[in-house]
Amino acid sequence: MIETLQLGGLVFEVRRSDRRKSLGLTVDRGGELVVHVPTLTAADDMAGWVNKKLLWVHRKLALKAEAAPKLRAPEYISGEGFCYLGKRFQLKLVEKQPQPLKFDGTRFLLRRGTRATEQYFSDWYMAEGTTWLRQRVEQLSQKTGRKPDKIEVRDLGFRWGSCGRNGVIFFNWKVLQLPVRLVDYVIMHELVHLREGHHGPAFWKALGLAMPDWKRRKSDLAEKAKDYLVFGLTV
Ligand SMILES: [Zn+2]
Repeated sequence: MIETLQLGGLVFEVRRSDRRKSLGLTVDRGGELVVHVPTLTAADDMAGWVNKKLLWVHRKLALKAEAAPKLRAPEYISGEGFCYLGKRFQLKLVEKQPQPLKFDGTRFLLRRGTRATEQYFSDWYMAEGTTWLRQRVEQLSQKTGRKPDKIEVRDLGFRWGSCGRNGVIFFNWKVLQLPVRLVDYVIMHELVHLREGHHGPAFWKALGLAMPDWKRRKSDLAEKAKDYLVFGLTV
């Protein structure tokens, strides 16, 4: 189980080690925030120290966001494509429709003049995707031998998924735009975290046993995900 620290709207993974003499903070490639502390550091001391570094962390994250490939904002015009599990579906604007957004199995139908459209899309992805994710997690957990107690789908900012305390796994609703093999990587990664909190050798070994081609999927997630995203990750 991962120890986390929540501060300033951010979630930090806490890694305690006997070898550490002082506190340290890293922002890794995926934007994951890690606080490294000596084993017996008190929670208050750690929070106080991290608090002083928040400005630096936000600056780092902003730089990462700038370096990330820019996604064009959705225009919500007829013919625009939106992906669900890697399949692209066209949007059609309609004049009259009881609900603002609807999916008819082949197209998204959006009532013309709808405002706050992203909210309707995220509601749709969450409603459609939560059931799917639950079943997929159930299947894939047979490979890791451990099921989460609960899964939750919400906006996780710049992360695809995260494994919280008490056996809860969180998924970003935006992951549902990606092809199944990339969603599976995110799921498997979080399932392995139920056993191995940190990204140490034991973590990657367990991931390799559960998903032998994880490296390929991980690099595809970093490089190809943007081809499927209309709704990107945000810092
Ligand atoms: Zn991880």
